[in-house]
Amino acid sequence: MSFDRSLARCSFCGKRPPEVGRMVAGPGAAYICETCLQLCNEIISDSTPFSAKALELASRPPIVIAAPQPLDMDRNNLTTTNEPLRSVTLELEQKQQGMTLILHQIHYYQERFELQYLWIRPPFTVGFAFVPRIIFFLKDNTGAQWTGDRGGILMARPDLASGPNNAVYQGSARFRPLPSPEAHVLTIRAADPLGQFEPPAPQPWEFEIQL
Ligand SMILES: [Zn+2]
Repeated sequence: MSFDRSLARCSFCGKRPPEVGRMVAGPGAAYICETCLQLCNEIISDSTPFSAKALELASRPPIVIAAPQPLDMDRNNLTTTNEPLRSVTLELEQKQQGMTLILHQIHYYQERFELQYLWIRPPFTVGFAFVPRIIFFLKDNTGAQWTGDRGGILMARPDLASGPNNAVYQGSARFRPLPSPEAHVLTIRAADPLGQFEPPAPQPWEFEIQL
């Protein structure tokens, strides 16, 4: 696959040269600029898992760069691997500061697992630029850790919303690799990256499930 590097934009802030200083090219169409590298360094040197800088970075809208189109053959392969090998229904629900998070199911695939969730919250204001998303942090009893999200979609589900002014987002988070056979307990922490902008900032949700 080939990429047109003249379209280079920082994958973290979307800026192009010469707006940014130097840029590092990653695999495919991924880039990072000097400023974002510096920010990442600050996040890494901060030991808190939900630092304000990390959440701000994670809550940025995705940067869309001319991405290579998969061949038709690849697409066919994708559809055949889309069926989970195994699904576990969780139906865990927690309420917090006017928001509800429901962990619905875990789907296990060959090399990854996905968490399906519903998030009921007051709607974002009109013109809100961010993709609604929840960032998940997972840890099992062997110490293995995962983080992931894939954003969500807004659903018109007044039957699920507890109030007429609430919105229902359906989302999924993808993690790899699969938990090891020794993993029996999974702690799932979830945070709304935008929560920090709504005082008081909510605490992350925390669930514990048996594998
Ligand atoms: Zn950048």
